[in-house]
Amino acid sequence: MPPQSTDADWVARMADEVIAESELRAPGKPVVVASGISPSGPIHLGNLREIMVPHLVADEVRRRGIACDHVLSWDDFDRLRRVPANIDQSWAEHIGRPLTSVPAPPGSPYASWAEHFRAPMEVALARMGVEYRGISQTQMYTSGAYVDQVLLAMREREHIDQVLGRYRTKAAARPAQATPAGATADETEAAAAAAEGSGAASEDDGASSAGYFPYKPYCSVCDRDFTTVTSYDDETTQMSYTCQCGHSETVLLKDHRRGKLVWKVDWPMRWAYEGVIFEPSGVDHQSPGSSFVVGGQLVSEIFGGKQPIGPMYAFVGISGMSKMSSSRGAVPTPGDALEIMEEFLLRWLYTRRRPQQAFTIALDAELHRLYDEWDAVERRVAGGNASELDISAYDRAIRTAAGELPRTPRPLPYRTLASVADITTGDPVQTLRILSDLDPGHPIASLDEVRPRLDRAQCWVATQLPAAQRTRLHDEPDRTALDALSDSERGALKLLADGLEEHWSLDGLSQLVYAVPKLQAGLPADAKPTPELKAAQRQFFALVYRLLIGTETGPRLPTLLLAAGPARVRALLGG
Ligand SMILES: [Zn+2]
Repeated sequence: MPPQSTDADWVARMADEVIAESELRAPGKPVVVASGISPSGPIHLGNLREIMVPHLVADEVRRRGIACDHVLSWDDFDRLRRVPANIDQSWAEHIGRPLTSVPAPPGSPYASWAEHFRAPMEVALARMGVEYRGISQTQMYTSGAYVDQVLLAMREREHIDQVLGRYRTKAAARPAQATPAGATADETEAAAAAAEGSGAASEDDGASSAGYFPYKPYCSVCDRDFTTVTSYDDETTQMSYTCQCGHSETVLLKDHRRGKLVWKVDWPMRWAYEGVIFEPSGVDHQSPGSSFVVGGQLVSEIFGGKQPIGPMYAFVGISGMSKMSSSRGAVPTPGDALEIMEEFLLRWLYTRRRPQQAFTIALDAELHRLYDEWDAVERRVAGGNASELDISAYDRAIRTAAGELPRTPRPLPYRTLASVADITTGDPVQTLRILSDLDPGHPIASLDEVRPRLDRAQCWVATQLPAAQRTRLHDEPDRTALDALSDSERGALKLLADGLEEHWSLDGLSQLVYAVPKLQAGLPADAKPTPELKAAQRQFFALVYRLLIGTETGPRLPTLLLAAGPARVRALLGG
């Protein structure tokens, strides 16, 4: 029997509902879940939830042996709305053109704006094991796939206008804030960027002084959508429009291919067309006149379909983006995140939280803590003492119905790898020497054993660690500091220097550095720590840091000692 859902496992619970709903609506057919992404600029890491929630549900459906189609709509027939700050502002002349007709930013290998921003997202999704059926809306509209739906919507334009009218006054009220209270400026900006990617930012619903028309043509001369439909004949499908560029034209809508339904009509049309059972939406869709709410009416009243079920998912914030990255004017993308973390870890952020829970993805040193947390969960799972929630979130992170994601054969602590990358500036020979010394009883034979985690940690140091926080091991002893040492400090340093060889491993050196202040106080090395001892240990560590790297703190001391090597440590400590 397939696994049954439990309260701890939100994915299984949602899959139960989706399968039941699909059996009601489309018995015997594959379950259809959907996501939509507008490649209007760099696709923000926060937008990943739009894909991950349906992905995880689709994956659970597939794990139960039921066919599932995850439709990912690339909303690339949307108009270019604005040019991102870091792109040449001369691109503003393309505002109003479909994203597939706008040239890619300078230097891009891709043919169009849409392709330029879609391609890296496709790579990231493939790396994360997300299986989907990508649909280019440009391809659908320009091939005439939606002609019947377009003609139907135009025939029913009064009815659609009426439905929209029910909400127009309500919608005039400020839409629900997509940003949690107390959000930082960065988070607010991220929320705005995330909303840009959802299609929800298109507010034009087709109303104009010439009447209501739910179809918006792209001008055949300037290819922009600064157009107004001025008349339409239901019998012949003859449609006239004018454009701000001065062009006006009469076409047969049944043969017309350069235009699309306005967003609020387009979305429900596609629910019906694809038979979507499950599609979550962002919290920005909670307001009364939102496209999700209006779409729920239009899909049944006009297109004879049903609104998908699905949760409103909460905001995902990003914190700790380095100055370096933000100065490039770039918003962090899923591809950026995968440069510094393994694929399963990014999946885990989504698997362990219900879609309604907001959370923040930290790109700074908080990532080290997240990795520690993951490693602890992995040990509990292996040891058979993990909670139900831990087990399901872990399992959904490391595998899909198609198989396991790549993992690092020997997952050393990320913070250790980052420290080693920092100290060695990535030198492979030094890195291998230090990593082999971590556990001399079970040394590392090749860096491949610690990859790809090592590569991600090296990239983290290169892109996220501010230059001022880089570790610079002294080449020469600091004579002034050494001359000023007290007898007790000299004694402590001698205890450390004398014990180095015997304790030359990560565990051994950890014991040694904590033991030195105890031995000095005449206590055994395994004495229980007291407040006095802890203060003495802090002072001792600060002293060693000063002599080795000239600062009061640094990478964990045992890692730093291993990196420096016994001879250099002894020299710098005055031995
Ligand atoms: Zn024009």
